[in-house]
Amino acid sequence: MATQAQASADPEQVKSELAEWVQRHWDPTMALRDWRELLLRAGWAVPSWPRRWHGRGLPAWADELVASELIGLGAVGIPVGSGTWLAAPTILAHGSDELRDRLLAPILTGEQTWCQLFSEPGAGSDLAGLSASAVLDGDCWVINGQKVWNTSAHHADMGMLLARTDWSVPKHQGITYFALPMHQPGVEVRQLRQMNFHASFNEVFLTQARIPRDNVIGEVGAGWAAALTTLAYERRFWAHRRPSYSPAPGRALDEARAEADDHFATYSWYPQAAGRPDLVVEHARAAGVSDDPVIRQAIARLITMHRVSAWTAERARVARAVGRRPGAEGSIGKLATSNVARESAKVHSMIAAAGALLAGPESPMGGIIAEVLMSVPGQSIAGGTDEIQKNILAEMVLGLPAEIRVDRDAPSGRPFGV
Ligand SMILES: Cc1cc2nc3c(=O)[nH]c(=O)nc-3n(C[C@H](O)[C@H](O)[C@H](O)COP(=O)(O)OP(=O)(O)OC[C@H]3O[C@@H](n4cnc5c(N)ncnc54)[C@H](O)[C@@H]3O)c2cc1C
Repeated sequence: MATQAQASADPEQVKSELAEWVQRHWDPTMALRDWRELLLRAGWAVPSWPRRWHGRGLPAWADELVASELIGLGAVGIPVGSGTWLAAPTILAHGSDELRDRLLAPILTGEQTWCQLFSEPGAGSDLAGLSASAVLDGDCWVINGQKVWNTSAHHADMGMLLARTDWSVPKHQGITYFALPMHQPGVEVRQLRQMNFHASFNEVFLTQARIPRDNVIGEVGAGWAAALTTLAYERRFWAHRRPSYSPAPGRALDEARAEADDHFATYSWYPQAAGRPDLVVEHARAAGVSDDPVIRQAIARLITMHRVSAWTAERARVARAVGRRPGAEGSIGKLATSNVARESAKVHSMIAAAGALLAGPESPMGGIIAEVLMSVPGQSIAGGTDEIQKNILAEMVLGLPAEIRVDRDAPSGRPFGV
């Protein structure tokens, strides 16, 4: 391992140390994995993490700063995806040292991609009601059950899996969080076709699937705490942007661009799910209705909502930069995005009238409007529905009385499902 330089906590100092290091080490002709190995060894992969796990112990703002500086310097940072955004921080927060040593590096180099195996046909908002089961058999856990709506499971190497290991306790207490190797006979992934014609998520059937005994993130039976960490990070990253890698030639850059193409192919409809408020003015002009007073009013209202929502997103970004744990701003931001998306779909429909229902290149804005209408409902479901975000805000932020929860407050010893 190369020796890590002592980094300062001053942003300008961090920038100049990074620039100097990149100047010495960046070679676009090298393999992307080899470059990322260097980033990991130098502690530039996730600079806010401890030195032992590919960081420099810097404040949280350093992660975003270093990621954008690397791109600005023409180089490449760690990969995008649920491995880096969800699995890695969960493993860092709850995993054993052995798991951190074994699982974090392949995520950060891009060697292994992850998917989230939480939802089930009978457990979405009521996630703790899940019924996939895990039974210890010698050195392995044996898993049976079905998961659904699992984004990118069709090309993931590993799964963040929640399964029930104890049926005799209240439901939140009997869940364990596993790192599931996806490439094995007991894991069958079937892609689902969506009403917007994309196919980004899957059903995952687990039949006698096997997980090494030590692949438990957190304690056995304490998976709910680790799941809450993943969900909090998920609310934080509900909107994510493609990194703008340099167009220059070079193997590492080619591989990074291909990796991003592959990742964002799954998410190509997400901008449409967010309602495309950026297109309403252009759409109104193209349709010849930009002087209609009712439509102008609706556009002004939408743009105002969108602007305010962007400020909320900025608040969330700043909270992240100063190192706050994910909090209420994630729920507020996600809810605001759903409201903007719905309003935007409404305004696009007013502009296109019946034409909004037409798909294909001849239809309004080359089919984008139809895709908006078909995709917007997903925005208020993914990562926790609007109603669930409202419950979180009511209870955690406003301090309103919580709903009566017989599932959680059951007398001790109450078995799951009774
Ligand atoms: C784009 C997208 C990507 C996704 N990716 C993944 C993924 O990668 N991995 C994964 O595991 N899952 C994923 N999901 C699934 C997602 O987490 C679930 O769809 C979501 O949690 C809702 O669960 P459900 O679909 O079972 O709906 P339900 O929970 O059945 O909800 C149905 C309706 O009831 C309402 N409701 C439920 N409970 C309450 C309550 N207590 N109070 C008030 N109203 C309530 C809901 O708001 C909703 O309107 C994804 C979903 C989408 C749309």
